[in-house]
Amino acid sequence: ESAAQAVDRLTRWAPDFPVPGVRFADLTPVFADAAGLDALVRPLAELAPDADVVAGIDARGFLIGGAVAVAKRCGVLAVRKSGKLPPPVIARRYALEYGTATLEIPADGIELRGRKVLLLDDVLATGGTLVAAAELLTDAGADVVTLAVVLELTALAGREKVERELPTVPLQSLVRI
Ligand code: IMP
Repeated sequence: ESAAQAVDRLTRWAPDFPVPGVRFADLTPVFADAAGLDALVRPLAELAPDADVVAGIDARGFLIGGAVAVAKRCGVLAVRKSGKLPPPVIARRYALEYGTATLEIPADGIELRGRKVLLLDDVLATGGTLVAAAELLTDAGADVVTLAVVLELTALAGREKVERELPTVPLQSLVRI
């Protein structure tokens, strides 16, 4: 099964969630399916052979991030929403499709300077989250070598934002809708 087939077979589409006018793609059933998860993790693990750490964005990015990190024999770094990590943290505030948010990583205990990072998330919508996470990792001294998502919602033009703000970092999506 390809990633596109798994996403097509198992994604839950929720109209007007979490706010009116947004059509939310819930990939939870894809992750919960053995063949579905495998169809996502295999192609993602082939990206960025030079990466030495995988980062996943809160919260569904943690699931693929962990699985891809094991497949690549890398460590995994959780890029967290605010208030979850003890201080000190490095933070980045940003606007997203609905509201604003802050992402954080630990400011000590992980040497990111010079590390090559494969940054993952489940869905690319407007691109604000992925750009903020990449900038946060860059602030910490990391070299973000590849960005990847399972599902790119093309109508929201996230790719355009990512390519404008991070013109040197390739963006891969397994499925575009
Ligand atoms: P963006 O910042 O607008 O690109 O939104 C992407 C972030 O919000 C990701 O962390 C996604 O998990 C989440 N998100 C936005 N829209 C959706 C959706 O339709 N399905 C699942 N997650 C979404």
